[in-house]
Amino acid sequence: MKTLLSTQEQLKKGDVQLTDITGQYLDKIRKDNSSVNAFVDVDEDSVQKQANHIQSKIDSGKAGKLAGSVIGIKDVICERGKKVTCASNILRNFESVYDATVIQKLQKEDALFIGRCNMDEFAMGSSTENSIHGPTRNPRNTDHVSGGSSGGSAAAVAADMCDVSLGSDTGGSIRQPASYCGVVGVKPTYSRVSRYGLVAYASSFDCIGPFSKNVTDSAMILQEIAGHDPMDNSSSDKPVGNYMDAVNNPGGKLRIGVPEEYFGDGLDEEIRSIIESSLDELKGDGAELVPVKLPHTPYGIATYYILATAEASSNLARYDGVRYGHRADFEELEKELGMERSAIEQEIKIAVGTSKEEATERLMKLDSPLARLYKKSRTEGFGKEVKRRILLGTYVLSAGYYDAYYAKAQKVRRLIKQDFDSVFSDVDVIVSPTAPTTAFKLGENQDDPVQMYLNDVYTISANLAGICGISLPAGTHSNGLPVGIQFMANSFSETDLFRAARRHELLSGFSEG
Ligand code: GLN
Repeated sequence: MKTLLSTQEQLKKGDVQLTDITGQYLDKIRKDNSSVNAFVDVDEDSVQKQANHIQSKIDSGKAGKLAGSVIGIKDVICERGKKVTCASNILRNFESVYDATVIQKLQKEDALFIGRCNMDEFAMGSSTENSIHGPTRNPRNTDHVSGGSSGGSAAAVAADMCDVSLGSDTGGSIRQPASYCGVVGVKPTYSRVSRYGLVAYASSFDCIGPFSKNVTDSAMILQEIAGHDPMDNSSSDKPVGNYMDAVNNPGGKLRIGVPEEYFGDGLDEEIRSIIESSLDELKGDGAELVPVKLPHTPYGIATYYILATAEASSNLARYDGVRYGHRADFEELEKELGMERSAIEQEIKIAVGTSKEEATERLMKLDSPLARLYKKSRTEGFGKEVKRRILLGTYVLSAGYYDAYYAKAQKVRRLIKQDFDSVFSDVDVIVSPTAPTTAFKLGENQDDPVQMYLNDVYTISANLAGICGISLPAGTHSNGLPVGIQFMANSFSETDLFRAARRHELLSGFSEG
């Protein structure tokens, strides 16, 4: 039974050294990362330095609460001095000058950062195939995807290249890859964890959360990264629950809602029966199963892909190649525009220096040098899926369509939230499969974005409602791939989430620990 806590015990006793642990992980990365592609950047010198530093703190009895943990970080979370590419060409050379709040918090408790994890570009996707670094493959079967968008973070933990990792979940990007790779993944309540230093995709949905090999380790990480942050106005100042207590004492009454909408058409039959046997086990263990209804579920995907793309189109407007981000080659521009370099530079200076109105006016002239620089930089910088979303988001926000799409989707979002409010007045948690299928083959959904979006059918509503969710292993499909079970709990009820998940884990014996 290997958990972070048991590793810490061994480190404290001197049975093992942190350099041995990191050495094993680095060996594993050297051996398997070329096929799995979970990590896009591993700095062995830095790992060595961190290991020595933390080991000396352990030796002198002054180590923080996470000393001994080796963590991978999704390439969308800022680490000072590290490249933060978001798997995008537009940020290929971007280096962060500051640490995200989650990084600061983990560092303060002596966590060790082993490397940067692959992802879908700007966290848009469900397979980690939309990445300038190439796809992440599923460690359980490398012909299959790892899920996404935090596929690198999930695969790194599943392939035993680190203990835990951080990902981000905007519509399922922690839970779905956790399910596909057979690990635990937690999406906390919206605003429970600071987003300061998380590159924005859809700000009213984005959440940072952990991946781990067992429920307890995720609880331990979330315990440290949760809480109010003055650097993120939207972060909640509600007190953080005692997650470790929840996993240590998961017993007691548990009412589990079973929503019929999450077990309908489109669900793989074997997954259905695996989840149903998990439910039988929970029932046998004393949990009460309550049939519930979440009637607006069928509108979740459409609502999400309107609102999230609208927010994305606005958030991604900042990548203009002038202030920062990839800038188109001047020589090519000179040729295309027939302008001297100095004239183009002058144009950029005016745009950056003048008032916003004047800059906008210049940009409205679509053939102005500045507009053409923006266009070329963004055309080269963004991948196909990101462009699709910027276009979709701009469309739903445009004056003529705003009411029909964006405003309407906001109303549906409220209805979805109300569905959950009424169910949670009666049950502690809701249970469902995490995804309708197991990990699909690489390339299988690449030409069909709608099919790709349908993958998010069971995860997306939690983001629309802002509630928390967890995915953990429930079994193995006859195709050899993992099947995940999802629990969702009301906003700020992570303790219920951990209690239910830990109970399931103990019954199933599937996770390590
Ligand atoms: N698959 C969803 C999307 O493509 C969710 C992504 C996420 O949670 N970051 O938008």
